[in-house]
Amino acid sequence: MKVPLLDLKSQYEQIQHEVEPELLRIARSQMCILGKDVELLEQNLAKYLNVKHTIAVSSGSDALLVALMTLNITPDDEVIMPTFSFFATAGSVARLFAKPVFVDSDPVTFNIDPKQIEQKITEKTKAIMPVHLFGQSAAMDEIMQIAKKYNIPVIEDAAQALGTQYKDGKFVGTIGDIGCFSFYPSKNLGAFGDGGLVATNDDLLAEKIKFMRNHGMNPKYYHKFIGGNFRLDAIQSVVLAVKLNYLESWHEGRRKNAEFYYQYFNDAFIQNPELKELIILPKAIYKNTGVRNHHIYNQFTIKSKKRDALKDFLAKNEIGCDIYYPVPFHKQECFKYLQNNDADFPVANILVDEVLSLPVYPELTEEQISFVVTKIVEFYS
Ligand SMILES: *Cc1c(COP(=O)(O)O)cnc(C)c1O
Repeated sequence: MKVPLLDLKSQYEQIQHEVEPELLRIARSQMCILGKDVELLEQNLAKYLNVKHTIAVSSGSDALLVALMTLNITPDDEVIMPTFSFFATAGSVARLFAKPVFVDSDPVTFNIDPKQIEQKITEKTKAIMPVHLFGQSAAMDEIMQIAKKYNIPVIEDAAQALGTQYKDGKFVGTIGDIGCFSFYPSKNLGAFGDGGLVATNDDLLAEKIKFMRNHGMNPKYYHKFIGGNFRLDAIQSVVLAVKLNYLESWHEGRRKNAEFYYQYFNDAFIQNPELKELIILPKAIYKNTGVRNHHIYNQFTIKSKKRDALKDFLAKNEIGCDIYYPVPFHKQECFKYLQNNDADFPVANILVDEVLSLPVYPELTEEQISFVVTKIVEFYS
């Protein structure tokens, strides 16, 4: 049996009959960039997220960049974020020559530890950037409380969490001042290339983000601000519009697969209690708060002992898995100049050695998941 980490071809088979006529329509119309189809997608995503404004952009990384540029982040400024995330979170800040300030992670959710944010705030702090890693919300109540106390805007990196709800039912990416999403193909809602989205409930921010997406231009050829080319192609918007109708069922499929993992692993733990110390399953902490989309499992990420050997063993058995992420920001060569102290990040330093993401995409079968668990148990036996 083969179990790939992700199988986008099987997803495409479900939607091919709807997507291909749309691709042809765009090809024949030669409406290439922005335009009616992008606007329609923005409206549908605003409705889905229950947010006032959405602005479609060229990627998740550009969503973060345009959000920071809209808030006038300059080289004198500091932005607080978790040290354990995908590079774009920190890269977007560093690209504006501002200083990314790193915070250690929560060992259960892998998200930023809210208890350690306040001590990192200085008079230079211009934004807090929590990340909803792997599709589970960060501790937004605690984060928003600190942000309000110091009057600091919050930019949510919700790149992996389009559709994730927080315990009050609000969608992540609509709780802070600006939310940023990615349509990278491996995200739960993936385009046929790069794409992203910015969401906000603030009318003035939304207006500025729209200008910033197109070189800060308003009206045509008049520039009050310096923006960039952060525009989305029409061809991506029609693919996303079709997929959006399936998104809830795909989230549901991922949650069902996560449940299979819990069942099969828990059965194995009963047989062999020692395994419980070697394999730690991810925890959906908002599961019992009445929120439907408590975790959308963009990744199903376990913590494991002898992780690298386990990864090799699974690869040999044709089971796809990967390490998100092997290096925290404070250890990246490009951030050496920040002179962070490694001892300040004990949790993230363990995570990078232990995390392993297993296949959880919606088209997986119960047999495939059972096979993955069997092989992991075999490795430790
Ligand atoms: C994917 C991702 C991004 C960047 O999105 P792109 O669309 O690939 O530019 C940013 N932050 C996080 C946490 C991500 O997972």
